[in-house]
Amino acid sequence: MQNVTITQFVQEYLARRHGSFINGKVVFDESAASIDIVNPANGEPISSFAAATDAQVEEAVLGSRAAFEGVWAKTSPYQRGVLINKLADLIEANTEDLAQLECLCSGKAINLARGLEVAQSAVFLRYFAGWATKINGETMTPSLPSMAGESYMAYTTREPVGVVAGIVPWNFPVMIGIWKIASALSTGCTVILKPSEFTPLTLLRIAELAIEAGIPAGVINVLNGTGSIGQKLIAHPKVSKVSFTGSVPTGIAVGKAAMDAKLTRATLELGGKNPAALLADVDIDSAVQGIVYTAFSHQGQICAAPERLYVHRSIVQEFSKKLGETLSSLKIGSPLDETVQFGPLSNKPHFDKVLDFFSRASVSNTIICGGNAVPGPGYFVEPTVILANGADDPFLREETFGPIVCIQPFDDEDELVQLMNDSPYGLGASIWTNNLSKAFTIIPKLEFGTVWVNMHTFLDPAVPFGGTKASGIGREFGSAFIDDYTELKSVMIRY
Ligand code: NAD
Repeated sequence: MQNVTITQFVQEYLARRHGSFINGKVVFDESAASIDIVNPANGEPISSFAAATDAQVEEAVLGSRAAFEGVWAKTSPYQRGVLINKLADLIEANTEDLAQLECLCSGKAINLARGLEVAQSAVFLRYFAGWATKINGETMTPSLPSMAGESYMAYTTREPVGVVAGIVPWNFPVMIGIWKIASALSTGCTVILKPSEFTPLTLLRIAELAIEAGIPAGVINVLNGTGSIGQKLIAHPKVSKVSFTGSVPTGIAVGKAAMDAKLTRATLELGGKNPAALLADVDIDSAVQGIVYTAFSHQGQICAAPERLYVHRSIVQEFSKKLGETLSSLKIGSPLDETVQFGPLSNKPHFDKVLDFFSRASVSNTIICGGNAVPGPGYFVEPTVILANGADDPFLREETFGPIVCIQPFDDEDELVQLMNDSPYGLGASIWTNNLSKAFTIIPKLEFGTVWVNMHTFLDPAVPFGGTKASGIGREFGSAFIDDYTELKSVMIRY
């Protein structure tokens, strides 16, 4: 095992006292509950933080609102774009520190943390920076006839909604936090992030970098703690919008709380049970590589990762065998080791949940590979492939959010569409084929927010992303986010 050397900065950062970040300053209350941050690779605490107090929630919201009405309202769209780009530059310059912190707190492989989580966060920021100067309304000609020779004209403006509460899960804290920062800042909103209690550090660091970039104090605040902090933010009358990313049950609770608060706008990016369909003509070796990469990166803890594999009956045996062999050969180990291909699950509750799925599968399903915890310290499990016991198998219905895929054969494309859509979720789906005509025939029949062909879980800032059905409400990226972060004001003039 050859672990990368932990940077001096990361060593010192872990040793610091952590809390929240309000109005440009690190704050913590010594008497507040202290929560340990645990390295999932060995189960040992590496740092801790003080949960935000009620007074700090209040201070953060009032500070965020004051920045929204004051300094941020006076910052031109062009200047907002410049500042967002500066933050992107600083994130790139601090890639190694951020990637190591992410690796230590969430068990993400160091190469994935550097190349995907941190590097792509900068790409997303730069894309959104370009939007800051392009958020416009329309002019229109009112359609009712003039009654006494008078004329009318009308136009719309897009105005930022105000303070946004951005509630973030533990699987990609930097990237998902950045999506919320970028959407809020480019539209002229301010944002209060609530990271997951398992991964509180990287967004704290990014808030510091934002100040270094010149983004005014109060524009990005971070409140750390458990879900109760999220609840307090949602209930606060000066929070105008909630942007939540996380599980379906929490998302439903968040949506209800936002409605109860004062019909607070809420966008919900939730979980899924995403299908991948392998048609009979697919190149099996490339499909195996594609599924290994998309279903098992970050140990399967990716919301859009495929968990249901519908494989044409003519190739199911060969595909299952090759997938099992490839997964069994992956190098499992420390996420700080650049040669490791498969690290630990991110936290103990999730590890226990995945072990529960394993014990259920061991009595009810054929296991092609995996199905066990890896002996030793840390939250390591084996990448796992199981066969479904028919189309109604619970493993084709429940999100595991772990490294478990379930294979179900299909015979024809009508049956395939029915199987893929037979789910309460609709985040993403993929079709793997060498016959694009077939793919184009299937795409319109699928009830998902995103459909990929010969790829899966590929997120691009220019392409809207979000779920249908129980996978959420709203879309991020592209121009679609603008509706959610702005109010449309109509102006009518008689002359
Ligand atoms: P989670 O729902 O448990 O927690 C998400 C966040 O919500 C955390 O910050 C948590 O502290 C907070 N929270 C918990 N209870 C709350 C409450 N009652 N009110 C307000 N906030 C509350 O999710 P998780 O376990 O951190 O993340 C995994 C889930 O996230 C999976 O289901 C995954 O599919 C989903 N996810 C979705 C996307 C997407 O873009 N659609 C992306 C990543 C993860």
